[in-house]
Amino acid sequence: MQELRTPYFLIDEKLIKRNLEILKSVSDSTGCRILLAQKAFSMYAAYPLISEYLYGSTASGLYEARLGCEKFGGETHVFSPAYREDEFDEILKYADHIVFNSVSQVKKYAEKAKSAEKSIGLRVNPECSTQEGHAIYDPCAVGSRLGCTLSQLDESIIPMLDGLHFHTLCEQNSDDLEITAKAFEEKFGKYLPGMKWINFGGGHHITRDDYDIDRLKRVIMHFKDKYGVEVYLEPGEAVVLNAGFLKTRVLEIVHNGMDIAILDTSAACHMPDVIEMPYTPPLEGAGKPGEKKYDHRLGGPTCLAGDVIGDYSFDHRLEIGEELTFEDMALYTMVKTNTFNGMALPSIAYKRENGDIEVIKTFGYEDFIRRI
Ligand SMILES: *Cc1c(COP(=O)(O)O)cnc(C)c1O
Repeated sequence: MQELRTPYFLIDEKLIKRNLEILKSVSDSTGCRILLAQKAFSMYAAYPLISEYLYGSTASGLYEARLGCEKFGGETHVFSPAYREDEFDEILKYADHIVFNSVSQVKKYAEKAKSAEKSIGLRVNPECSTQEGHAIYDPCAVGSRLGCTLSQLDESIIPMLDGLHFHTLCEQNSDDLEITAKAFEEKFGKYLPGMKWINFGGGHHITRDDYDIDRLKRVIMHFKDKYGVEVYLEPGEAVVLNAGFLKTRVLEIVHNGMDIAILDTSAACHMPDVIEMPYTPPLEGAGKPGEKKYDHRLGGPTCLAGDVIGDYSFDHRLEIGEELTFEDMALYTMVKTNTFNGMALPSIAYKRENGDIEVIKTFGYEDFIRRI
């Protein structure tokens, strides 16, 4: 445990398994195929467990495709808005499904992919926004570069395609999927007969308590029954939702109109989505400001004035040296960490089902300088 100094990510096998059971019940009862979107979570020490439950993995490019192929198994899918010519041959070694973002990319690469016996698809944009608030996560926003709109679709490429793909959701329920699927079908349904699959992308918060799984199943079965296609889902978040923690310690406390704790973890370096999205992560034992007796702002030790994780309230006054536990820290965290200010990367630990804690990775100065 000496190695496990804070900050560190603690990923909990039992909690991942709970999510996987839910996802597997969806694939068992509908016959749909669920993939891990690795961009949300690439801690491959957990891949042996996850791959027992899911059909394969999906990748945002060459490196994730290689990781999925080498460490996950099953089917490997890849989507990129634009593939590089100098990488495409290598991608063909790892990926089973290759999804293109534009007619021009299909024309450039599809023949090569087909002759390598790959299943190929086109990501389309159903132009149906169902999310408010997070415009940077809305691929249907005006001017979006993600997905081919109906007006841009050149029908001459349709015979080359094995499937269609859409990805428009972010942390959403199945009512939004239903709306999106309807818009998709109205625009692109005519191309589905003769195709092998449709991919609903990610953003399905399937493992959240209030998620309406029955509605999801109805949408899946509609496409399977009507068009005879395989249905793929590729959630990232839902696979590891609430399955990880970030353990940190209070380094110092300063006062400026409020009590401010400086932690050994940083929003900017260790949980950049807190600033980018933005959101306030749940913290074990803490409430919203004003809810409990002692309010504190929690911030990181970097130079960035905005390196603030959030304002919380506690039953006691925080003390220097105290350990704090941020919750829901498996997704979009360790895949996005950086060493700004020369911050050390958090260690990564894996709590096994039997309670044993395995240290997966620790990082040091070498990891900082190697990148620069
Ligand atoms: C981000 C993304 C996913 C996974 O999204 P989650 O919100 O993590 O479920 C799946 N497919 C594509 C194409 C994506 O861009």
